[in-house]
Amino acid sequence: MKRKSALALIAAAAVVLGTGAIVRSQIDPRTALLERGAWTALTAGQAHAAADAFREAIAADPKNARLHLGAGMAATLERRDADARDEFERALALDPKLSEARVLLGQIQYRMGDPQSAIRTYEILVAEKPDNADAQATLDRWRREIELHDRMQRAVGSHFTVSFEGPAEAALADEALAVLDRAYWRIGQLLGTYPSDPIPVVLYTTEQFRDITRSPSWAAGAYDGTIRVPMRGALEKHDELDRVLSHEFTHALIRTLAPRGVPTWLNEGLATALETGDLSWAESDMQRVNGRVPLRALQNGFSRFSGAQAEVAYAASALAARRLLDEAGGAAIANLLRDLGTGEDFESAFLHRIQRSFADFDQRD
Ligand SMILES: [Zn+2]
Repeated sequence: MKRKSALALIAAAAVVLGTGAIVRSQIDPRTALLERGAWTALTAGQAHAAADAFREAIAADPKNARLHLGAGMAATLERRDADARDEFERALALDPKLSEARVLLGQIQYRMGDPQSAIRTYEILVAEKPDNADAQATLDRWRREIELHDRMQRAVGSHFTVSFEGPAEAALADEALAVLDRAYWRIGQLLGTYPSDPIPVVLYTTEQFRDITRSPSWAAGAYDGTIRVPMRGALEKHDELDRVLSHEFTHALIRTLAPRGVPTWLNEGLATALETGDLSWAESDMQRVNGRVPLRALQNGFSRFSGAQAEVAYAASALAARRLLDEAGGAAIANLLRDLGTGEDFESAFLHRIQRSFADFDQRD
């Protein structure tokens, strides 16, 4: 599972701000033209072109807060999170009333694993805009998360740190550490990659998990830099714990290879195919829906799907990832992921690393 709240905010903000830029711009005509092109690119989701255009416009007009805001938005879409944070901070230093920059600064601070700073940013935002109900709700949710994590205990292993709420969960946390350690070596060996920084893991109740991750009801775990897992009854069964933690660890490992640019079918497909257990459920799912799902339809997030649609999306992705692992091997896939992380185009990276075109791979049943 992944979520993308910052992206949704940017899509909405780019349209509004881009329109404003054309009307309100009082700068020289060439910079105005650059700015207009930058917003158009951003609205169309062309983050790289937008980033270039904003950079050029800033060189001509460095004190323009809106240009820094736009540059930050483009950086957010490209997952250059530290650059995005710096640009939003610069925009606010130039124009403290530019509240769009504050909204996105808080989101990026949260995404970078710094909820304390995100909370401080949103406290200012809510004080300035007391009628912004979304900002207030987000601030409340972040505060609940910090409060919960402050009262949690921690079990520390060599590759993971597992946080849990009370003594009742201590045994489960120890078991989670053991399961994660096995996943670390098993999946690490398959992809030839062993993350060196300890990965944070938090065990929640089902209610806490829904509240903090806002995941759809079918989600059994989430990864956003931290592995978050609800301990519903089924999780106390050993197999389920193993399956869910292997899945989320694979997302963590993929993130170390490629912080961006990974299509959802590949990310979720690998995470699902590398769970413990076989994929016969996926094969019978695909038979039941009577056919195949083109991978191109599974590029961008599954959280919009219903439970039944999601199951088919995961099944199709897992079978494709399994086929890729069998045909090309883990090392080739790891290289493909590294290429995507450096911003290389998916189709050419696929052709180079897998030695066949993606269209050809996607055609085959
Ligand atoms: Zn997943």
